[in-house]
Amino acid sequence: MTEHLAGAGQELDDIRRYRISVLLVDDQPIIAEAVRRALATEDIDFHYCQDPTEAIKTATELKPTIILQDLVMPELDGLTMVRFYRANQDTSQVPIIVLSTKEEPEIKSKAFELGANDYLVKLPDKIELIARIRYHSQAYINQKQRDEAFLALEESQRRLAVANKILKKLSSMDGLTGVPNRRRFDEVLKQEWLRAIRHSTSISLIMIDIDFFKLFNDTYGHQGGDDCLKQVAKTLEKSVKRVTDMVARYGGEEFVVVLPETGTKGVLAVAETMRADVEAQHIPHENSKVTDHVTISLGVATAVPERGSREEDLIAAADQALYEAKNHGRNQVRSMGLNPADELHEEQSGGMSAI
Ligand code: GH3
Ligand code: MG
Ligand code: MG
Repeated sequence: MTEHLAGAGQELDDIRRYRISVLLVDDQPIIAEAVRRALATEDIDFHYCQDPTEAIKTATELKPTIILQDLVMPELDGLTMVRFYRANQDTSQVPIIVLSTKEEPEIKSKAFELGANDYLVKLPDKIELIARIRYHSQAYINQKQRDEAFLALEESQRRLAVANKILKKLSSMDGLTGVPNRRRFDEVLKQEWLRAIRHSTSISLIMIDIDFFKLFNDTYGHQGGDDCLKQVAKTLEKSVKRVTDMVARYGGEEFVVVLPETGTKGVLAVAETMRADVEAQHIPHENSKVTDHVTISLGVATAVPERGSREEDLIAAADQALYEAKNHGRNQVRSMGLNPADELHEEQSGGMSAI
């Protein structure tokens, strides 16, 4: 209900804003009376200002859609007034009709030169006065509406751009942990894979899985599990040092790290740091079969990809290494070579020895 009222109020404001409104500046009240009478039957607002020194201030306050300016006044002449209106920001675009006592080509030409829009000899016939007031006012109102619509469009485009940016960020982020999600990981890996092919550089992956996480959930509840995932994600992000390295949530309680321009030695060092950092958090996990706090298993793989090779192979190799880490007792890092040139090798590091 209040919304409807507010809407109606806004519409009324709009109508009022675009109503034709005349400001007459003339030292003779009798002229004002004549114009007032001429406009009395029209849907036109009429305002009168007798003192020219008050004219700019009055125009700024009333925002008329047209100014009728007397040419001959005791204190300030009408042409000077036209110059003032044009120089003032609030009145610079408002149409001005100069009212003169007679046809004077020189003054008429001067008035137009200074920016007047029309020239009438006092007092014009009612029909002509109204027609000119309407014509100039409407042109002014139309221009104002165009300007406002343009500004509103610019503003809505700006808001849309901001919203799109936020949306894009949200759509690539994992809602629970705040790290990039699987979708983003797929995109980044593809880009980095192609870059590695172009520059013949190495690229590494770390697949990470929390040990006995089902038991963690069973012990501490789903909420406890969620909190643990957040803490692990935060720890992993802190463990990577290069801005090009990216930790993402791969799914469930699995994370993945992309490390462009990183070889076997480098990725093993990062993975071992991650393993040790998570362990150092000492998140209680009393039912873990590894130890009494949360641990992770990590599988790493490195490749110097060749044209036509697929990034899925790197994921599969890291996955295989993770499987090895799980099979060899968890809480450890295992690596798997990918290139046929590399001798297929496994390496192991970590808090547990291989079984
Ligand atoms: P393993 O050491 O072999 O990895 O054992 P695990 O129990 O961690 O492995 P499993 O894959 O059997 O269990 C994963 C568990 O992770 C099961 C699932 O309920 C839990 N999980 C997956 N996603 C979420 C999540 O978003 N929040 C919580 N709280 N738990 C999750
Ligand atoms: Mg799992
Ligand atoms: Mg697990």
